Amino acid sequence: MINSNEYDSQNSRLHFSHPLQFAILTIFIILIVTAEISFLIHTRKQATFFSSRTIMTITSEKLTKAPWKSIKIKQNDTLEKIFKQENLDHKTLYQLMSLTIAKPYLKNLQANHTLYLLVGHQGKLTKLVYGITPYKYLEIIKSKDLFKAQIIEQKLIKNIEEATIQINRTLSQAANQAGFTNSFINSLSKIFENKIDFSSQIKKGDRFKVIYEEYYANNKPIQKGDILAAQYTHKHHNYIAIRYGKTAKTANYYTPDGANLGRRFLRAPVKYTRISSPFNERRMHPILHIIRPHEGVDLAAPLGTPIHATSDGVIAFRSRNGGYGKVIVIKSGYKYSTLYAHMSRFSPQFHLGSHVKLGEVIGYVGQTGLATGPHVHYEFRINGVHYDPMKVKLPHAAPIPKSQRQDFKRYAHQMMALLNTK
Ligand SMILES: [Zn+2]
Repeated sequence: MINSNEYDSQNSRLHFSHPLQFAILTIFIILIVTAEISFLIHTRKQATFFSSRTIMTITSEKLTKAPWKSIKIKQNDTLEKIFKQENLDHKTLYQLMSLTIAKPYLKNLQANHTLYLLVGHQGKLTKLVYGITPYKYLEIIKSKDLFKAQIIEQKLIKNIEEATIQINRTLSQAANQAGFTNSFINSLSKIFENKIDFSSQIKKGDRFKVIYEEYYANNKPIQKGDILAAQYTHKHHNYIAIRYGKTAKTANYYTPDGANLGRRFLRAPVKYTRISSPFNERRMHPILHIIRPHEGVDLAAPLGTPIHATSDGVIAFRSRNGGYGKVIVIKSGYKYSTLYAHMSRFSPQFHLGSHVKLGEVIGYVGQTGLATGPHVHYEFRINGVHYDPMKVKLPHAAPIPKSQRQDFKRYAHQMMALLNTK
């Protein structure tokens, strides 16, 4: 299938101090393989190769040749135990365990990983290899009387692949048949979640076409990367999404016209059981018993339910504040701000000034401050004015900025061509 295991001894030593510095050198587009996966699903692969500096030095072929001894790690195996079984001496064990690079791996051998031992004259260990991941090894070599450890990375290849998923019953059934995991399917359906409700709208005969990254090591698929483009055909209508952005953090999915497919705001920050008190300009306060506007909505939820940021933004307030209890304010751009009150606790990874992404958990439901039960008091402000969070017209996510339109158009055109190839 894909072969690019050129050996490069110059660069074969990837030291632990700078792991995974994959320099992307060249891009070639090559048509690889037409693989029929099942009756319904045909996967055709078009590939972009990204060469990297990291190199494979140990092939399984080399390792399976005698006199290597390969040991599959079992639950609770320790190197000490294995050394006893193999009649290896304690002094060597001690030497290996004192190697800074090797120690964290050798102290914590993982079940089902493989350990390879090369034993020389007089039953002394001369070489040890331990598979950390399918593309990463720990290698220890004895030279004179000293052991030297290093981490070796196999060359990883990123392919751009294309798959068509024909839906007969459910999306997950079809996708699982095609060998895609549930998390991949979730990512895929999430792209279109504002356009299609996959739990109810799906019809027999609907079709997904998806262009995505797949990482290979030693010709084996290791893991999936990003979904670069997708097309969903539903009742002869095509929904198309193209991922675009300078960095992973800024990338979003857009229509070919450059409209953002993502949401700018979630309607509510929690999975609530009920609205315990609506937005109301003239409300009798349940504790204070005076007319006081209720400038947010009370969303009742069990104690400890996660509270999500309803949009991307910056934490502008995060503290205790009188009746609000533990409260967070997020500013989203210059116009919008949202407030989340009565939290039991804050998520520890965020602080005042932290950037948050839509959907990230900022805290947990509680009843700190003036509250009669666990709920989130949620406020939505536009230019400082309160609006009913449950009714306010939520703004669309930003389209492709003008300065990037030209570039996006060109890129979208390429992606569309890949999507439309039959
Ligand atoms: Zn309230």
